[in-house]
Amino acid sequence: MLRSLMLAASRSGRLRTFAENTPLLRPVVDRFVVGTTTDQVLAVAREITTDRLVTIDHLGEDVTDRSRAEANADAYRALLRGLDGLGPRVEVSVKLSALGQALAGTDGEKVALDHARRICEAAHAVGTTVTVDMEDHTTTDSTLGIVRDLRVDHPWVGAVLQAGLRRTEADCRDLAGSRVRLCKGAYDEPASVAFRERHDVDLSYVRCLKILMAGDGLPMVATHDPVLIDIARHLGRGRPYEIQMLHGVRPHEQRDLAAAGESVRVYLPYGTEWYGYFVRRLAERPANLAFFARSLLTR
Ligand code: FAD
Repeated sequence: MLRSLMLAASRSGRLRTFAENTPLLRPVVDRFVVGTTTDQVLAVAREITTDRLVTIDHLGEDVTDRSRAEANADAYRALLRGLDGLGPRVEVSVKLSALGQALAGTDGEKVALDHARRICEAAHAVGTTVTVDMEDHTTTDSTLGIVRDLRVDHPWVGAVLQAGLRRTEADCRDLAGSRVRLCKGAYDEPASVAFRERHDVDLSYVRCLKILMAGDGLPMVATHDPVLIDIARHLGRGRPYEIQMLHGVRPHEQRDLAAAGESVRVYLPYGTEWYGYFVRRLAERPANLAFFARSLLTR
């Protein structure tokens, strides 16, 4: 119930504008978001890559005008130009809704594909890769279609699949020969398309993991769940895979896994449009709300 309410709040334009223009919140947000500028995120990426890998997300989503989509694509290209030898240890993650996928009219998908293509070219030029984040289930077909188009020229483009969706086992079968990040799913989805019980999502995650680990691609195991990580390590013995976690979540475990020889990639978001991302992180764990309230009260 609380999670659903928070996830509904994460889509509210009014709350977004209020929160992003309230400087008081920024220090609290900093646990999950590394800063607002390219220089800040690259400094943190450089530090992390001493023992782990990184995927950088220039925050933004659900853009409703073309100029914003263009600005987001430009920001990614500038970021990639600044990688300066960090590729392929540092790649980027992009949300197609930040690149215009949902623009009113009929050509939103084409706008997003064109921008994503140019980001892939910029990534290729500096020797790194791109992963296309997955948003709510209404975008899954469109997003996988765009990933398919991008892979014609750039077969290394990563897709994201959400174990919470009922369709995902079948999608895993289709994509098991490629780079696939498997996560539980961060959106509030209806029972008609998604498992609503955590236990069912976990069981689906394991079934999907088995399919990806039996394929020829690169499974990217995006979870902080220690049980699922143990299962992934067991299934992945002797084959390449990555464990991926979010910046600010279980950092000690990230470093321990890296020290144990695992390939660990940290998802590193930055930028001024942090609202939707931040509220989804609060929704994932009720204790984060207490952390948030405490941080505000003690300021
Ligand atoms: P949970 O069962 O939620 O958590 C397991 C344990 O991890 C918790 O008990 C807690 O100790 C810790 N934990 C988890 N989340 C938090 C948190 N926010 N704060 C503090 N502790 C926490 N979702 C999408 O829908 N699309 C994407 O493209 C996408 N990309 C992702 C990329 C990466 C690298 C990661 C790690 C996640 C991504 N997600 C994405 C989010 C994902 O779907 C889940 O919402 C999120 O990872 C929480 O699920 P969990 O697997 O960690 O398991």
